[in-house]
Order: sequence, then C-alpha cells, then structure tokens
Amino acid sequence: MLVDTYGRVATDLRVSLTDRCNLRCSYCMPPEGLEWLPGPDLLTDDEIVRLVSVAVELGVTEVRFTGGEPLLRRGLVSIVERVAALQPRPHMSVTTNGIGLARVAGALAAAGLDRVNVSLDTLDRERFRTMARRDRLADVLAGMAAAADAGLTPVKVNAVLMRGVNDDEAPALLRWALGEGYRMRFIEQMPLDAQHGWERSTMVTADEILASLTAAFELTPVPGSERGSAPAEEWVVDGGPGRVGVIASVTRPFCGACDRVRLTADGQLRNCLFAREESDLRTAMRDGADDAELGRRMQASLLAKLPGHGIDDPGFLQPTRPMSAIGG
Ligand code: SAM
Repeated sequence: MLVDTYGRVATDLRVSLTDRCNLRCSYCMPPEGLEWLPGPDLLTDDEIVRLVSVAVELGVTEVRFTGGEPLLRRGLVSIVERVAALQPRPHMSVTTNGIGLARVAGALAAAGLDRVNVSLDTLDRERFRTMARRDRLADVLAGMAAAADAGLTPVKVNAVLMRGVNDDEAPALLRWALGEGYRMRFIEQMPLDAQHGWERSTMVTADEILASLTAAFELTPVPGSERGSAPAEEWVVDGGPGRVGVIASVTRPFCGACDRVRLTADGQLRNCLFAREESDLRTAMRDGADDAELGRRMQASLLAKLPGHGIDDPGFLQPTRPMSAIGG
C-alpha cells in the first residue's frame, strides 16, 4: 500500500500528461506561456502506463489524467485504453479545459474513460477572453455537451473566482450548471501560479462564495460522512437533487483526509500539490529499476508526506513548479 506516517492511504493518482496548455488563465500562466519541459524528459506512453500499473498494484483505485492540458497529449486515448485493461481496473477521469473535447469525447468513452472535469470560470465570452486570454468559450461549452452525450458523467465543472473579475458570477454559473445537469464546483485560488501573484488578502474565500450563493439559493450541507476524502465540501441546492461543491484548499484545508499522490509529465512523484521534494521515477526507470524497485520508491515518497500543505505557516514557500507543470 501507499501509506504515510499519519496513516493516510494514497488511492488517487493524478497523472500529468503534459505541462503545455492552449489557454493562458491569468491565475495560472503568464500570457507568453512558460518554458516547457524538454521533450526527452517527458514520460513516453509506455512509461506512463507502466508507472500507473505499479501504482495500481500498490492500491491506487482512481486515476485522473491532467496537465497542462491533457487533451494536447496525442496518445491520450490509447493511454486510457491501456490503463482500462489493468487489473483491478481503476476508475478513470480527465481534468480538461474542454477545448477539443467535442472531437474526442466519444473515443475516450469507448476507450474506458469514466468521467470528465471541465474547467470554466465564466459564461461571458468577453470575460472568458480576458481571463483565459483566448476566445474559446464556445469550444468549451461544446466539449462539455459532447462529454455528457458520450456518457462521461457526471460532468463536473470547476471554476476559480477572481476578485473584481468574475466573483459576481457564482450564482449564474450554478444556475446554468443545474440546468445542464452538470455538477458545479468552486475552487479557492491557490498559491501555485507561475507569476507568484497570489495573495491571501485578495483571494475569494469559500465563505464569500457561499454568501453569494445563499443569496440566490437554499443550500443544505451534505453530511460530512458522505464526503470521505473528496476535496469538495458539498451542499444540496434548493432541496435537490442538484448539488454544488466548494474546494476550499486554503481556508478549510482537508489534508487530514488526503488520499492523493501526483505523477508529473516528466516522471517525478509528488506526495502533495505543495511538496518541495519529488521522487525521480523517470531516471530510476530509465536506469533499469524493476517494478518492485519503482514501487519501493513510491512507498518511500509517501512515507515522507507532511501532515499538511502549510499555506498558513509563516515559513510557507510556494513550490518551484507551477500548477501547470505539476498537474492540477
Ligand atoms: N488544463 C486542464 C484544466 O483546465 O482543467 C487541467 C489542468 S488545470 C491546472 C486544473 C485546474 O486547476 C483547473 O480547474 C484550473 O482552473 C485550476 N487552477 C489552475 N491554477 C490554479 C490556482 N492557482 N488556484 C486554484 N486552481 C487553479
């Protein structure tokens, strides 16, 4: 098992397939993009499937493909198909900005993908263009609809609210998502942007998001027992069946229930989104480590997992890698 010294067991593996992205969301990347990881450093499709299979042997039951933008990875459908053939077969999802999803949703479902999370911060075309620095709102909406049609459900929609930009839009986003049958979740902005522009004093907090939602809807908390290790706290909206989630990583951290571990596109295992240390599985694998040795390295990395991400500690240091190069 992948267990840490606080008794938490990692069963959820987030796999970044690329650090590249076709959007430039202002809270994530500068307009000019970043210096991308060098090609030879990126794991091949075979290497990804091998590391996922070692993790599955060690108890991982959930695999989430992310990035960067995972739909930019050419081998995505084949990777999904190969991971779906593992025994026991893990549950699989993709976190995507939705661009290009309309084209590939059917193939992903046929390959064995279970579900998608699509990121969308605004329903306003101009705002989208300002926030993501690309005019692609229509592509994202088409991608979500295609995912729902292909049975990649529930389609979860993730939004980050930025003060003075889209923080007035939570009720409209929720109303729209309820109408479409999608599950809306709001994420607190985290100190993971490449530009180091995050400030606690200006981020939109979970309390503010909930205040704006309760002005428009009746929210009833879903009992904590149903949450398990899920990052989102959930509320039933207007008596149900619709729900809304808030992922309050900063103001209501949920590290005590964390079951996640991350593999970057260049083969580094991270036991936390905010970890400052990584375990270099790529070099070990290319130097000839067998599966047992790779598994031992994964276990050793988990044993070093800290009790919490420490955003509130006075000595908190943002990780060197931005979110896009870790895998969000
Ligand atoms: N490109 C894919 C997407 O857009 O979903 C996957 C990667 S993206 C980094 C994953 C999620 O992280 C998105 O929902 C994005 O909005 C969110 N994100 C990026 N930077 C963030 C930050 N600083 N704080 C909170 N969420 C962030």
